[in-house]
Amino acid sequence: MTKKVRTRFAPSPTGYMHIGNLRTALFEYLIAKHENGDFLLRIEDTDQGRKVEGAVDIIYKTLKDVGLNWDEGPDIGGDYGPYVQSERLGMYKGYAEELVKTGHAHYCFCSEEDIEAQRKEAESLGISFKFQDPCKHLSQEEIQAKLDAGEPYVIRQTIANVGETSFDDEVYGHIEFDGDLLDEQILLKSDGFPTYNFANIIDDHTMNISHVVRGNEYLSSTPKYNLIYDAYGWDRPTYVHVPPVMKDEHQKLSKRNGDASFQDLVAKGYLPAAIINYIALLGWAPPTEQEIYSLPELIEVFDVKRISKSPAIFDIDKLTWMNGIYLRNMDEDTYFETVRPYLERAVKGPYDLRKIAKIIQPRIDVLTQIEESVDFFDKTGDYDLEMYRHKKMKSTPESALTALKAVRTALENLDNWTEESVHETLLALPKELGVKNGVVLWPVRTALSGKQFTPGGAIEIAWILGKDESLRRIDTAIARLEEALA
Ligand code: GLU
Repeated sequence: MTKKVRTRFAPSPTGYMHIGNLRTALFEYLIAKHENGDFLLRIEDTDQGRKVEGAVDIIYKTLKDVGLNWDEGPDIGGDYGPYVQSERLGMYKGYAEELVKTGHAHYCFCSEEDIEAQRKEAESLGISFKFQDPCKHLSQEEIQAKLDAGEPYVIRQTIANVGETSFDDEVYGHIEFDGDLLDEQILLKSDGFPTYNFANIIDDHTMNISHVVRGNEYLSSTPKYNLIYDAYGWDRPTYVHVPPVMKDEHQKLSKRNGDASFQDLVAKGYLPAAIINYIALLGWAPPTEQEIYSLPELIEVFDVKRISKSPAIFDIDKLTWMNGIYLRNMDEDTYFETVRPYLERAVKGPYDLRKIAKIIQPRIDVLTQIEESVDFFDKTGDYDLEMYRHKKMKSTPESALTALKAVRTALENLDNWTEESVHETLLALPKELGVKNGVVLWPVRTALSGKQFTPGGAIEIAWILGKDESLRRIDTAIARLEEALA
């Protein structure tokens, strides 16, 4: 019987969700769900110095926002809990001591200074530094005496004569390492907390994790982890190391640039569904040309074999394009509820926000573009009258003045103000005046918006502004043009 697929997302609570970490979570989720397996959430908080208030809530919220629901985790429990490492402290010590007994780990009483002295010596000799732990040669009695005296210690992995060691990674293939280069890493710190290097093994094994998915920065440590799995006689998990997400060819996405986290992207107006769709394509190639995927569709088509070894470059333009598609594909109500807070902030006037929402839908890609695109509903400001000059529209300030006067009369006589009636009225005028549509519509749009680019054209804007406000803006435009042309 093959083992049930179980993956885990094991973030450290740093206070923000790095895009690379979220992608790891997504791949873990997809690997598990593709096989009807379990996706677990485990909080790795053994680095107490880096604790951040509220950080775990950010992890919960992010995963929920993008729909990566976990089957077991700190908040919902499960058969393999607790799911927070600081609540599992009791078990690590016993496991570490077991390794000491079998000769795969040892107590080390060296101080930072002892280690530093060795490092300096290696440097002065110009050789590469690898800590040679004198404590390995302590006798059983000497160790016991130090322990009895309460000397602080760590437990280090003991690595002896390994020679070549190898493992297979689902992404990077067969990997061989020179075992003699592996350092005898700390497993248990002097404060009794395990290091990541130790806790990940104990937790992954005791939680029955089948696939370990993580950043490729852990590739070089994996041989050390394997020696520990072997020491206990445990099965090694299937490894899936993934390449980093880069800002460009040389730099990783980093917190410092303010562009690395899920929260940054949401604040910049991107939709969680578009973000998760986009990051699925970061380092993973879909089987067909299709690029827009819902989460269930991704579960269906996801295949570890299509994860790339090369770093993925985060392309904000592509995400922007994809976000636009998501905005346009939304059903009417969801879309309106999504844009509404932005519209409410930008438009205080008595206008129907649903109508405004509709005219911006084909034109915005990112939610933060909304405010600027609709700011003219409240006021037009003192726009430059040269805006009435438009070569392609065959409009000049002079022709605009004539057109606006005719428009004013026609609209004033219009009693039933609907999108259709405004449409008919405004399109009848160019015919009457014997001019192209642009000669009339360009000045109207300019007079109503004071802008060169607007969502919606003259007709839609007039319809939403209503008769009184439209006439008032046209009057202002006529007065300004008359004055300028006098
Ligand atoms: N806590 C580790 C990190 O955030 C997890 C690595 C892993 O998935 O094993 O990098």
